[in-house]
Amino acid sequence: MASPSSSKAVVQSSGGDGHHERLFEVAPAEELLYSLSADGKRRFMHPVVRKGHYWAIRRRIAYALMVLFVALPLIPVGDHAAVLLDIATWRFHLFGTTFHPTDNLLLAALGFGVVVTVFFVGSTFGRVWCGFGCPQTVYLEFLFRPVEAWIEGGPTNQRRLNKAPWNAEKIRIKATKWIVFTAIALLMAATFVAYFTGWSALAPGLLNNPGQWKGSMFTIAFVTAMIVFDFGWFRDQMCTIACPYGRLQNVLSDKDTRLVAYDVGRGEPRTRARVQLPGAGDCIDCGACVSACPTGVDIRRGLQVECIGTAQCVDACDDVMRKLGRPTGLIKFTSEREQQGGTRHLWRPRNLVYLVLMLTAWGTLGALVLTRADALVEVVRGGREPYRLLTSGEVANQQRLRITNQRDVTQQFTVTVIDPPELSLVVSESPIVVGPEAVVTVNLVTTVPRHLFVDGQATARYLVTSDQGYREEIEFLLLGPYGTGGNTP
Ligand code: SF4
Ligand code: SF4
Repeated sequence: MASPSSSKAVVQSSGGDGHHERLFEVAPAEELLYSLSADGKRRFMHPVVRKGHYWAIRRRIAYALMVLFVALPLIPVGDHAAVLLDIATWRFHLFGTTFHPTDNLLLAALGFGVVVTVFFVGSTFGRVWCGFGCPQTVYLEFLFRPVEAWIEGGPTNQRRLNKAPWNAEKIRIKATKWIVFTAIALLMAATFVAYFTGWSALAPGLLNNPGQWKGSMFTIAFVTAMIVFDFGWFRDQMCTIACPYGRLQNVLSDKDTRLVAYDVGRGEPRTRARVQLPGAGDCIDCGACVSACPTGVDIRRGLQVECIGTAQCVDACDDVMRKLGRPTGLIKFTSEREQQGGTRHLWRPRNLVYLVLMLTAWGTLGALVLTRADALVEVVRGGREPYRLLTSGEVANQQRLRITNQRDVTQQFTVTVIDPPELSLVVSESPIVVGPEAVVTVNLVTTVPRHLFVDGQATARYLVTSDQGYREEIEFLLLGPYGTGGNTP
């Protein structure tokens, strides 16, 4: 793979005064990661910000996402923050609803919904997530790079400073940048940890009792270091080398997937002349698209895996075209089919299947949340023996009743027998008091006349109710002596 610098070629074209020869740039045939130079060293990107249409959209989305990130663990919804992932108790509080590890179906619907949403968005809109919504792009392009430009100056100054010998001024500027980066990363890391502990516990814990919060302090320090490393140094390599999503995107894409592309037919042959020469394309080879790209891509070479869909090149080229008085859209959002002269099919079997699966998953999740019971009740066998024959001739089964209170208020549960009427029940405590989102297990002993057993089994039905209106009937298979009427065969 070669350097991304272009090579020269000669083209013949006819002007008004006859044939003349002129030079234009063509893309090199070799391929090389843009983040590497020909000798394998890293090329550090200093993209020039182009404040065009897409940049304005991205900036709005980026700021909204940053505000959301800070707000979600702060804003209370019910008794908890809007998002609190309490892994100490394995309870996830999301917008007033608490999910338990036992909410298998809910969690499965959530996980499946996320996966098929990624598939649907990726196959339909290409790398829109990477360019517009991914935290890597959001925080790098709209927080860390602007801070860097504020301290070090624009891309040209940054390059100059990096090449300059170390002196007091360079040390001062670089130290300021890394201190500010670390401070921002510290706040981001603390916010991240607050998603798992809650600010109401984390802030006083760190301030008043740091010894008890060593785990959180270590996590904050580790995440801070990771953020500084990633946004301060690793940067675009996260997208081009480390992130698996870019590779997945290749699998999800087809001829109708939305992508950023250069209009070769219109742009080539490129010439540096600012006036429209006969036979020349619209690209004036100004390099604005390349210098704006955060991953250093020259989109004129065609679709490349390093392109993360930021549309910075679109804004850059549109700006150039406007200044030249030519139509915008030399680089634009399009699809492979449109590039080949066809019409893009927004809906096709692949993304329709993803859409149906996505709506099913989110619809199921919504229905499960809305119809979610106030409690989870399960009866399991207890004791070492399946049953005990009593001297009275009755059969006793030991059981354990586990109640998960899914509400944020205390509930008092009672258990009664519905069927058969001859059955008698002893509960180790009644009423069973279960605190908000707590789990309580109690012992039951069910005693049944022996003659009720058929082939060693008898079905019992219980009714579990709570003072908060919960009501559920539960069936349980009691074990007893084998044979009809409890007679051993
Ligand atoms: S090529 Fe264009 S769309 Fe792709 S990452 Fe670079 S600037 Fe963004
Ligand atoms: S910004 Fe437009 S005109 Fe300039 S090099 Fe890129 S494609 Fe050509």
